[in-house]
Amino acid sequence: MKINICLLYGGKSAEHEVSLQTAKAVIQALDTNKFAIHPIFISKEGNWIKGPELSGPVENVKELEFGRNGKEIVPNALSSKLTADEESYDVVFPLLHGPNGEDGTVQGMLELLNIPYVGNGVLASSAGMDKVIMKNLFAHEGLDQVNYVWFIRSTWEGSPERAYDQVEKELGYPCFVKPANLGSSVGISKCENRAELTEAFVEAFKYDRKIIVEEGVTAREIEVGVLGNDFPEVSIAGEIVPKSDFYDYKSKYIDGDTALIIPADIPTEQYVTIKKMAARAFKALDCSGLARMDFFVTKEGRTIINEVNTMPGFTPFSMFPLVWKHTGLEYPQLIERMVQLALERHEEKQ
Ligand code: ATP
Ligand code: MG
Ligand code: MG
Ligand code: MG
Repeated sequence: MKINICLLYGGKSAEHEVSLQTAKAVIQALDTNKFAIHPIFISKEGNWIKGPELSGPVENVKELEFGRNGKEIVPNALSSKLTADEESYDVVFPLLHGPNGEDGTVQGMLELLNIPYVGNGVLASSAGMDKVIMKNLFAHEGLDQVNYVWFIRSTWEGSPERAYDQVEKELGYPCFVKPANLGSSVGISKCENRAELTEAFVEAFKYDRKIIVEEGVTAREIEVGVLGNDFPEVSIAGEIVPKSDFYDYKSKYIDGDTALIIPADIPTEQYVTIKKMAARAFKALDCSGLARMDFFVTKEGRTIINEVNTMPGFTPFSMFPLVWKHTGLEYPQLIERMVQLALERHEEKQ
């Protein structure tokens, strides 16, 4: 019997395009002798469109955007049961990045439907998506982080100067302004002065009603993958070396000139520290399935946790699959392991 796997991708998020790339790669890797692949494309407007069962890889992401040829379904757990017909899925793989997908919303719907799904549950997804909540939980766990402050759009609009004063007093320059709930560096700016700070606030508030401002550090960027449920395993580490000033959207997905060095050339003690911190961070957020943990390491030897990604970029050229490949798990096996973890977690909850 094949496993009926439903892939959810696209999504109403600024990371829509990244998700399409991920979906294409996962479809290519899934063994069709083991899996029956049921695609559901979520348009940028948030329409859910069910495509035909896929029997093999697709050449182009365009083939995954079903549009008029697909069957529109209502993503309403209580009234429609994911599909309009009687078909049911053994497991759903939400290959969605950013809000409306990586943030617990889709996960909540799948909980109500009682369908196993790959990746983090509702709490870890939503806590991991909101950088302020995430950092507050990391702080509670005693993990070393940069200093940060945060603002809501309405309070900033009331007195923007007061917000900038606070940033300068508490953090200084350089600092990073980020939408609280997003990823892929969308809406993130590095600021060196008040003029840049002002522009950065306007930019970040385009994407979210809440933003975070962080003290900027000069550091190497190291990432690890985490895999598991109650007993998470941490991969070997990878280093990111962007050509640009920081690892922004362009250097991630457009220029392709960022070097990923795996394994990262760091002292063993530093790797051990990162490994321990990653496992603690995973537990602090009650993660399950998988996560990618992003770190900064400074020249002075300080190890700082930057963030968690509960559904990290997942093409064969992304850091998460690559660190697992170097740890001994090839891309297709990694996907199967993630499906297995989803089924195990579901089983435990019953
Ligand atoms: P993704 O989810 O794709 O990893 P993101 O949108 O969640 O990205 P971050 O990882 O928080 O964003 O930041 C993006 C990049 O910006 C980092 O990889 C790093 O290059 C730079 N950066 C972010 N915060 C800081 C900081 N406090 N100091 C120095 N550099 C930073
Ligand atoms: Mg992120
Ligand atoms: Mg992300
Ligand atoms: Mg990151």
